[in-house]
Amino acid sequence: MNIAPQTIAPLNIAIVGAGIAGLGAALRLRDLGHQVTIFDRNTDAGGRCRSVHWQGGWRITGAFAFISSETNLIDQARALGIYDTLPRVELTETHEQTLLYKREKLIRQRSFSVTDILRNDAIPLKEKAALGLAFPRLFAQFKRNDPRDLTTAVALDDDLACDWFRKHSPAFVDYYLEPTMQMFCGYGPEDFSLGWLAWLMSGLEWSNGWWSFADRGVGMLTHRMELALSNDPGARLALATDVRQVTETPDGISIASECGGVLSQHRFDKVVMAVPGTMVPILMPGLDAPRRAFFDQVSYVGHHIMNMVVKPGDFPIPSKTLLPTADGFSIISNLVFNPRADGLWDVYAEMKGRFCADHAGASSAKILDLAWDEAIASNPKLATLDIIDRRLQRNDIAIARRPAGYIRALKAFTDLPPNPRIAFAGDYLLNSTVGQSHWTGLRAADQLHAG
Ligand SMILES: Cc1cc2nc3c(=O)[nH]c(=O)nc-3n(C[C@H](O)[C@H](O)[C@H](O)COP(=O)(O)OP(=O)(O)OC[C@H]3O[C@@H](n4cnc5c(N)ncnc54)[C@H](O)[C@@H]3O)c2cc1C
Repeated sequence: MNIAPQTIAPLNIAIVGAGIAGLGAALRLRDLGHQVTIFDRNTDAGGRCRSVHWQGGWRITGAFAFISSETNLIDQARALGIYDTLPRVELTETHEQTLLYKREKLIRQRSFSVTDILRNDAIPLKEKAALGLAFPRLFAQFKRNDPRDLTTAVALDDDLACDWFRKHSPAFVDYYLEPTMQMFCGYGPEDFSLGWLAWLMSGLEWSNGWWSFADRGVGMLTHRMELALSNDPGARLALATDVRQVTETPDGISIASECGGVLSQHRFDKVVMAVPGTMVPILMPGLDAPRRAFFDQVSYVGHHIMNMVVKPGDFPIPSKTLLPTADGFSIISNLVFNPRADGLWDVYAEMKGRFCADHAGASSAKILDLAWDEAIASNPKLATLDIIDRRLQRNDIAIARRPAGYIRALKAFTDLPPNPRIAFAGDYLLNSTVGQSHWTGLRAADQLHAG
């Protein structure tokens, strides 16, 4: 995207939501010469791409790693002067997992590696052959895919991916597709269509390289974006500020917000709505009917994170493990142990969306107890470990669902004539990765700049 900086009077633009999409939009609008105000209800920016300090180290609250092929993030980090100066870590190997098969055997499981699918002896030979015959339909879609436009996969939007693959290979679904998607997204079988999956797998590039910053993890990027904006006289960061209503008026945009019990009203020329899609219709009661129809069917799965610090056991540190739902594991998607410099072990687990939804009202302590019970069920030796501390990162709004019909609804939405005053940004418009969410922020900024 090469758009000329502003040559006319700068506009006064609000950005609601300071996740990676909103921060990306804000920095882009500053580059284009506009004044920006960024609202977020949290006390720090970053949203689902944030890190918090706990038990002597930085912990992710959402995203674990950046995908190397998402070069807009690298460009962003370079523009901030941190890509070549701050130490980075290569996470491609770290991202490899093993699947616990039938509660007794570990099978190596790289994400969407054809070689690993062929080697996977949980999938019978006959089913591998059936998969081979099914794949051409997906390869045909690969050619149509535009990585910046999910709607290019609309032709395969009618089937749920798990239902479609199950016809060819039930074992592939139970011991590859579903556990992998639970790990990445907390997705169950009802949460993603064949169209989305075929679009995601396009070129397989997205899963081939992962990286992060050595210090602070992925949250380093949003932290530095926040710093850049807070040091910029043309930007105002309104953190700990809950936006209550966004209204289009004859001469611009009116935003009602609350901060520390004080209600305020602000006037802007334009707005980027960079909140999760489910928030948009709540904040914008005046949204037109076709857009409301789209937003009303946006939904998210939960994907909580459990962190624990434990004393090391009298057994080797366990491998990173995916726990398949087919073998009765309904809570934990993936369970990871890492040795610490002080000799203790860090434990990290992500949780399945269905479990998060079914326990939406449960206390954090209860969720942690249930998760640890399941971890012990997967590996009884874990019962002997002494727990020093534990925390739950609740992510009820974690990953936008892409069930059958979603891409068609998205296409109807993106085909609407743009509103020159309001642009939307966020993971639900493309894909729930940091890079794709960031890109929707850049696109929203360019849309408002172009008029
Ligand atoms: C557990 C987990 C693991 C993940 N792993 C990865 C990974 O490894 N790699 C990867 O690329 N992606 C990963 N993702 C996805 C990635 O984190 C998201 O796609 C991305 O961060 C979404 O950014 P966003 O800006 O669209 O939304 P958000 O980050 O949700 O930002 C929206 C912001 O809006 C604010 N907000 C909402 N309502 C209001 C209001 N009324 N007033 C003011 N502010 C408001 C919120 O506080 C939030 O800060 C993961 C996500 C989760 C949850």
